[in-house]
Amino acid sequence: MTQRDAILEGVAGASETHDAFRMQENLGEGARSVDVFHVIDELGLPLEFRALDGLLGTCTRVDDASVGILITTRGDLHLQRFTAAHELGHFVLEHEGSFDREVGMPGQIVGRDPLEVQADAFAAEFLMPKWLIAGAAQRRGWWAADRLSTPEIAYQLSLRLGLSYEATCWGLLAQECISRPAAEQLRKIAPKKSKQAALRGVALEDPWADVWRLDTGDNGATLDAGPTDLFVVELEERASAGFAWDLEQAVANGFSVVSDFSEFDQSIVGGPSMRRLVFRAPARGVYQLQLTLRRSFSSRSSASGTFQTTVSTYGARREGSYGAVQPQPSIH
Ligand SMILES: [Zn+2]
Repeated sequence: MTQRDAILEGVAGASETHDAFRMQENLGEGARSVDVFHVIDELGLPLEFRALDGLLGTCTRVDDASVGILITTRGDLHLQRFTAAHELGHFVLEHEGSFDREVGMPGQIVGRDPLEVQADAFAAEFLMPKWLIAGAAQRRGWWAADRLSTPEIAYQLSLRLGLSYEATCWGLLAQECISRPAAEQLRKIAPKKSKQAALRGVALEDPWADVWRLDTGDNGATLDAGPTDLFVVELEERASAGFAWDLEQAVANGFSVVSDFSEFDQSIVGGPSMRRLVFRAPARGVYQLQLTLRRSFSSRSSASGTFQTTVSTYGARREGSYGAVQPQPSIH
């Protein structure tokens, strides 16, 4: 088997799995990422998270009836998701089993065992098929090569796909969304710069936390975030005409306001202004970030706009079996 054949087989396996779970139908509009842990569970495979020594993940197959997947807890959610997709690849592609010290990014094939190249290609295609990149980017106005080649946008896209920044850069290249020089340029710019640009001076206490920049494209989306992440929400309002975003429901749902300011376009009297809000979510739960556009002097019932995003702040899964560590369905 050539490396090229290995890639094609991995990609085909991922596409078949998408079809079996009707994923394009369910996720095609890019409002959420592929829930790889859920797919493994739906296939009836025991999935456990453990503090593995020197291993990212394993897929063990004793016989056809006895298959199990282990994922390390010594890594962030993005690494756990990518590793889980790689191990799922070993299962779907009917490999003997695996003990993985590393998983490869799309395009990293030199010197790799063809079976590992298959599983790597499966993982990349499974988590970032072109239709999902397109859906996630289109709903946020990012679907153009020059926009996706911008470090800030590639970083924000990586958060929506639930993948590391590096995996996203390679995935965008593998799916021919951006050119190779653009991918190499992107990889040189650390996400730290994009976080600082989004925060505009607001401090990020945890340097490993992510900074989500949300606008109307995230209305109705579900975000798989970490416990210390910050959420920058940018929405238009007409404060001069009395229309302003009401934060009451977001605060009631547990969000704290880290920063709140408006930018006015001085050239247009009575024109729109941009409200920039920075929120912190409570740790380890599922919460609704809900804002309502109200006219300040009208009754409470008359909302003239809403913004709502579902935010999970579980981050990396902790030790235990899938059922025990999975975010609870109750939403605050
Ligand atoms: Zn492997």
